[in-house]
Amino acid sequence: MPACPVPPLDRAHPPSSQPCGRDGLAGRAAAAGTAGTARASRAARLPLGVWLLLLPLVGCGPRPPFPVQTLADAGLKPLPAAAVQDCAARLGLPPELDRPAHATNHGERQRRDVFGREVPHQPQLIVLHETVISAADTVRRFATPHPRDDDQASYHLLVDREGQRLRIVPDRGRAYGAAMAAFGDFTVRIRPTSVGSLNNVALHLSLESPADGRGDGDAHSGYTAEQYRVAAAQVLLWQAAHGIPMSRVTTHESVDRSHSRRDPRSFRWSAFDAAWQQAAQRCGLTRYDRGRATI
Ligand SMILES: [Zn+2]
Repeated sequence: MPACPVPPLDRAHPPSSQPCGRDGLAGRAAAAGTAGTARASRAARLPLGVWLLLLPLVGCGPRPPFPVQTLADAGLKPLPAAAVQDCAARLGLPPELDRPAHATNHGERQRRDVFGREVPHQPQLIVLHETVISAADTVRRFATPHPRDDDQASYHLLVDREGQRLRIVPDRGRAYGAAMAAFGDFTVRIRPTSVGSLNNVALHLSLESPADGRGDGDAHSGYTAEQYRVAAAQVLLWQAAHGIPMSRVTTHESVDRSHSRRDPRSFRWSAFDAAWQQAAQRCGLTRYDRGRATI
C-alpha cells in the first residue's frame, strides 16, 4: 500500500482528522515519530497538477454515494469494569502478561473514514485468529518496528498453548488484524484504495497454532482444551465490557475480503461454545448469546 499524502490545498479536513493512510497521517506521525512528518513534508512539495490527478485516489474529492455504514444497536449494555473483573476472578483467569507491540504495528481507533466522515470507532466485533508461527515468534514479530504498511500487523491478545493471555495491544487501541475485511456489508474505509477494514471496531484474539500448523496446510491438530477455555472466557469478558452479542463473534476467514486468510484453521465452534456456556453460566451472563444468527 503506497503512502497516502495529504493534499496541501485541501481545507475540507482539519489537521487532526486527515483521512489518509491506515490511521490518518496525523495518527501515523504520532506513532512513527519523525517518519510521518518527513513524509508529510515531502508530500506537501508536490505540484498542484499532481494533486489534482491524485485526488480520486486519496479520497479527498466528492463524497461517495453510499452512507456511513453502522451495525445495529444490539441492545446489550456494557457491564461496569468492576463487574467484568468479578467475572474474570470467578473464571480463575491468570493475569494477562504484557507483550506490547511496537508503535508501528498498531494505532488509534479512527473517528473519521477516508472521506472525512465520522465512523464507528468503538469495539463492536470480536475476530478470532491463529498465529501459524509460535507465540514467541509472533510476539517478537509484533515488537519489531515495521515502517512499511504491508508489514504492520498485530492482535489485541494472544492465547498460547498453555492458555496464558499475552497482551499485545490495549483494547482501546487499533490492532492491525483484519485489513481488507467486512462483516456482511459493514466495513470502514480508513485507507484510500482499500475495500475497507474492520480494525476500527474489532477486538482481535489469536490462538497459538500447534507445531504441525506452522505451514500452509488446510488443517492441523487443533487447539488445546485450555486454549478453548481461556479464549471463550476472554470473549465473554469482551462481550460484557463492550455490550457485544454472540452474533458478532466471528473468524478472520469469515470476514476476510482479500480471499487469502483461512484462520483459525481447524477451529471447533462446538468446543468453543461448550467452554463459553460454562463461563457464561458461572458469571450469570448467558444473555450475551441470544441466538447466534441475529442480535
Ligand atoms: Zn488472522
